[in-house]
Amino acid sequence: MADYDVIVIGAGNAALAASVSAREAGAGRVVVLEKATRQMRGGNTYFSGGLLRFAFSDVEELLEIVPEARDVPGFVDGVEPYPKEAFLADLMRMTDGRADPELADILISNSLDVVRWLANHGIKMEIAMSLGGVKVGNVIKWPKGAIVRAEHEGIGLSTGWFRIAEEHGVEIRYEAGAIGLLRNGDGRINGVAVKTAEGLSEITGGAVVLGCGGFEGNAAWRAQYLGKPWDHAKVRGTMHNQGDGLRMALEIGALPYGQWSGCHATPINAEAPSYGERKLTDKTNRLSYPYGVMINKLGLRFVDEGEDQQFYTYAKFGGIILHQPDSIAYQIFDSKVTHLLEPRYSTTDPVKADSLEDLVAKLDVAQGTANETLAAYNAAAGNGEFDPGELDGLCTKGLALAKSNWAQPLDTPPYVAYGVTGGITFSFGGVKVTERAEIVGTDWKPIAGLYACGEMVGGLFHYNYPGGTGLVSGAVFGRIAGTSAAG
Ligand SMILES: Cc1cc2nc3c(=O)[nH]c(=O)nc-3n(C[C@H](O)[C@H](O)[C@H](O)COP(=O)(O)OP(=O)(O)OC[C@H]3O[C@@H](n4cnc5c(N)ncnc54)[C@H](O)[C@@H]3O)c2cc1C
Repeated sequence: MADYDVIVIGAGNAALAASVSAREAGAGRVVVLEKATRQMRGGNTYFSGGLLRFAFSDVEELLEIVPEARDVPGFVDGVEPYPKEAFLADLMRMTDGRADPELADILISNSLDVVRWLANHGIKMEIAMSLGGVKVGNVIKWPKGAIVRAEHEGIGLSTGWFRIAEEHGVEIRYEAGAIGLLRNGDGRINGVAVKTAEGLSEITGGAVVLGCGGFEGNAAWRAQYLGKPWDHAKVRGTMHNQGDGLRMALEIGALPYGQWSGCHATPINAEAPSYGERKLTDKTNRLSYPYGVMINKLGLRFVDEGEDQQFYTYAKFGGIILHQPDSIAYQIFDSKVTHLLEPRYSTTDPVKADSLEDLVAKLDVAQGTANETLAAYNAAAGNGEFDPGELDGLCTKGLALAKSNWAQPLDTPPYVAYGVTGGITFSFGGVKVTERAEIVGTDWKPIAGLYACGEMVGGLFHYNYPGGTGLVSGAVFGRIAGTSAAG
């Protein structure tokens, strides 16, 4: 008899969802193997902002999840529904139409239900005011689809998951890193090889669920698959996602799937540590650039900062910043907009000056070009009404690289500049899975007894990503993987 019915590798959102759903689907003995120590447990989920993007057709469906929001002035009338079609359109727009349609359908059709499932299990939710809500006069404008987050963000979500897993009788072993998959003679997965403080051992099981993250933490794999200069990128989250699950799966013939040369990376504080810092979690993010201007060390702008709202550009702008000279850029704002900066900007002190020239003089940039760039931007900035809560069409006129929205001149001192770099969040390349979350082999047949969820699922994200989708995807495919593995 096997040691366990289901062995789950990893202890983030996806893996713990799988462990709980396996128990709920009738698996008697479920074990979670977490490579990290108990103190460092929880993967990227712990570091996340806890933001959840899901489809809903009526604000009342949101209020079931965040009942307190009914008392927030303007919430009930101000929130626009986010039907499945809108979620799909966002996902396809972000991924240049490359998101796997079958996976996208599974993700989106189950998105509301899975958030209800989390809430019903006692993961308390709240409105993500500091992330997406923009106050315009006395009215708060909400971004589409990404309005709710776990209370206490990723820390709350991760802590909640461990509590729920324990309440469901899931055994959790820490400092237990899976290093290989075991198979019987007909190719069915029947266990894992594990490395613990006591040494190497084998654990047998009826099925194995891999939920142990992507390869974002692995400099060699980043260089190999993402190319230069990704090996030098700072990692926003856990140091434990080293591609172990992908390596184990590929070793036994899993089919690589999705964009292996792509990843989610965001503008973060240039001085952020090399890996995520548990006290700061996601507070190194610097995502209010739509209201300002970004220049690189050559003194040049290099993106349309106002191309779209932050949740639709931040996941690709990190990579673009990383490719600038020395992987550095500066976000410059004037005092008309500093009240709009996300609260997490307050975790660092900006460079400040009373004129743009004095500000530039304090930055490590080509001075002449930077002054020319800002002067040209100011001359081209739009005339019209600035509306931080929506695409306001206030665009530059005549610049080769336009700023398409929120293009106010930088004309009100004091001016501030924040140094940023690109920090990697997670890799997009993964393995192919079926609608039951079974891992598919290079023979295009499911590998019996092997399932994947979370960052390991390839095919959903390419080039870019609509904010708040990763956690919901992890919970949806984790829940499916656990149910399938128990069956
Ligand atoms: C700073 C930050 C902010 C984010 N904010 C958001 C957000 O607000 N909304 C959103 O949707 N997404 C967000 N994301 C993305 C999202 O958090 C992740 O994509 C998601 O948490 C991944 O879940 P997962 O379960 O697949 O992996 P993880 O949560 O990373 O879990 C992987 C687990 O596997 C373990 N592990 C690795 N290798 C092994 C091994 N060999 N054996 C055993 N265990 C192993 C790790 O220790 C870890 O416990 C954010 C990510 C970061 C880093």
